[in-house]
Amino acid sequence: MIAENLINIKNKLPENVTLVAVSKTKPISDLQEAYNAGQRIFGENKIQEMVTKYDELPKDIEWHMIGHLQRNKVKYMAHFVSLIHGVDSFKTLKEIDKQAKKHDRVINCLLQARIAKEETKFGLTFQEIKNILFSEEIKELKNINVVGLMGMATFTDDQEQLKSEFNDLKALFNEINISGKDKFTTLSMGMSGDYQLAIDCGSTMVRIGSSIFGNRNYKI
Ligand SMILES: *Cc1c(COP(=O)(O)O)cnc(C)c1O
Repeated sequence: MIAENLINIKNKLPENVTLVAVSKTKPISDLQEAYNAGQRIFGENKIQEMVTKYDELPKDIEWHMIGHLQRNKVKYMAHFVSLIHGVDSFKTLKEIDKQAKKHDRVINCLLQARIAKEETKFGLTFQEIKNILFSEEIKELKNINVVGLMGMATFTDDQEQLKSEFNDLKALFNEINISGKDKFTTLSMGMSGDYQLAIDCGSTMVRIGSSIFGNRNYKI
């Protein structure tokens, strides 16, 4: 089932769109099944869970941290994480830089923008993103690379609202690109329920969980 879901989704994605298989809460055997079907990029939202899975699975997997970051846990993933999607402060960038340096690595990061109208969603305002990207301080962080933006739309079926949120993020992405930021190539938006629309609005990376692995059961 997992292999079939994965292949169906992959066949629908344009060539320039990267698929992150969101495997949070799922057992190793599910990830192994997706791996056997050719998937090499997995997204997790808890650092400890990602570390456990990293230790047990093949080493050619690219691990993406998509969840809200606790700064004091960045050190546990600094030796292997390949992209951190949810960066929402300069302090966190600084911590990632510090930990990456210890491993002599450069860690790619995305700044998380707040696009949803809901109160609960994390993320930076568009102005805060520009302030960080065009600050003098960021130039001192040699062990991180901000390669793009990430956003989570409002949890709604209202297509017009989703579209307007995705379009806003794409416009910011373009604006930053035009201003000449190097290596600013990744726009991470779109999940199981809204990835088609996100791609229409310019997404280059979709984060898909339940449409591949099935619904999640959260244990409290
Ligand atoms: C869980 C999660 C996803 C995947 O959600 P699905 O609806 O299962 O596809 C994508 N992005 C983030 C940040 C998530 O936490």
